[in-house]
Amino acid sequence: MNTYNIINEEKINDYLEAGKKASKEEVLAIIEKSRDCYGLNLEEAAVLLQIEEESLLESLFDTARFIKNKIYGNRIVIFAPLYTSNECTNNCLYCGFRSANKELHRRTLSKKEIVAEAKAIERTGHKRILLVCGEDPKKTHIDHITDAVAAIYQHVDIRRINVNAAPMSVEDFKKLKKAGIGTFQIFQETYHRETYKKMHPVGLKADYDYRLTAIERAFEAGIDDFGIGALLGLYDYKFDVLGTLMHSKYMDDKYNVGPHTISVPRLRPALGSGLNKTPYPISDIEFKKIISVYRLTVPYTGIILSTREAPALRDELLSLGVSQISAGSKTNPGGYEEDDREATQFETSDERSLDEMLQVVCEQGHLPSFCTACYRANRTGEAFMELAKDAHIHEFCQPNAILTFKENLVQFASPKTKEKGEKMIKKELEKIEDEKVKAETINRLARIEAGEKDLY
Ligand code: SAM
Ligand code: SF4
Repeated sequence: MNTYNIINEEKINDYLEAGKKASKEEVLAIIEKSRDCYGLNLEEAAVLLQIEEESLLESLFDTARFIKNKIYGNRIVIFAPLYTSNECTNNCLYCGFRSANKELHRRTLSKKEIVAEAKAIERTGHKRILLVCGEDPKKTHIDHITDAVAAIYQHVDIRRINVNAAPMSVEDFKKLKKAGIGTFQIFQETYHRETYKKMHPVGLKADYDYRLTAIERAFEAGIDDFGIGALLGLYDYKFDVLGTLMHSKYMDDKYNVGPHTISVPRLRPALGSGLNKTPYPISDIEFKKIISVYRLTVPYTGIILSTREAPALRDELLSLGVSQISAGSKTNPGGYEEDDREATQFETSDERSLDEMLQVVCEQGHLPSFCTACYRANRTGEAFMELAKDAHIHEFCQPNAILTFKENLVQFASPKTKEKGEKMIKKELEKIEDEKVKAETINRLARIEAGEKDLY
């Protein structure tokens, strides 16, 4: 298959070369232009990726903070991953689940065990789950995933299940759509074909093009809510960030719907990894630059940050452009019930519990959100993008974030989190301008306090 029209490596390299030649004035003009929140083109993004000078980096970070605040306000959506299986027939060099890792304790959870995990996650206060599994045609086929989704929705008060899994056929994507998933996530890992080949020597994942075209097949099957990303550290981050943006623009141009989210996984040490070091290490400053470039270039795309990153950096990145974080995560199947370190995919850096994380998010002036309303009201794909671009999404998001956070405080939070959370809610209520919406939100807060659930 010719996927040259999706990712054109020569163009990426040309843009990056041209980007090096931009003057300071040109860089500042691009940063200034992005404040309109209409996004940037790939040539402009390439210029920003080449920034090295400290004062320009500061302007870039400031602008990312400005855009984040303008579009998303101070809301941060929170979720937890649920690993259903670590069995995998691929041998991605960087991953602890790779087939050549004979030390790993392999496990595929049964439906009953998956429900038990989801319940353990729910008990900590989560409402959104990301299902994750290895790729093993015999163990983690489509029925394994759709059965898991159905069982969780049936038995647990989890309101949105996103999925991060291997690429599928249109037929299997249709089954996934029917199961009622939220976002389908798939990371290309690296857009650089030659590096991709080295990192994925065998198995189904060795096919770069089949992976690259997965979101189009998902789209064809009716899944208009998808997430992409590159695994940062495998190849030159500038190439991979521009590759991710090129992929995003391709979908936006062709289907009028860009990715709902871009994830920024940075390579972590993994037990039994086939790499003895990170091929292209990324410093924290470069990581901040990556998030900022995404925020300026595709302002309406959510950015997801996982617990791969350390606490202090995570806290800083909340205001820089990130809109979703995972918290209290385990990366091994069964990890929420009993934690087996010999079964993990990679080492997490931020081990704080959801309750602790909620305190930190509030302390930093952000509003935690467990909202799943858009998805359940069918505001996805093009409908979501239109609302987001008109900034009408605020009218739904702010009260819903307040109400879902309140539900968490009433049901799950420690006294300290409750105290900080209630203060935050009070402050956020004052920000609602429409008096009718404010009155209705106050009314619903009282109903939640009295024990009602799921008001949105
Ligand atoms: N097996 C499916 C696949 O590879 O697409 C889906 C799940 S895989 C467990 C999810 C993601 O984890 C991969 O796409 C990869 O980007 C990331 N990952 C794998 N090894 C990692 C590591 N050592 N550090 C950080 N992220 C890693
Ligand atoms: Fe398997 Fe995914 Fe890990 Fe690759 S990244 S070894 S496909 S679980």
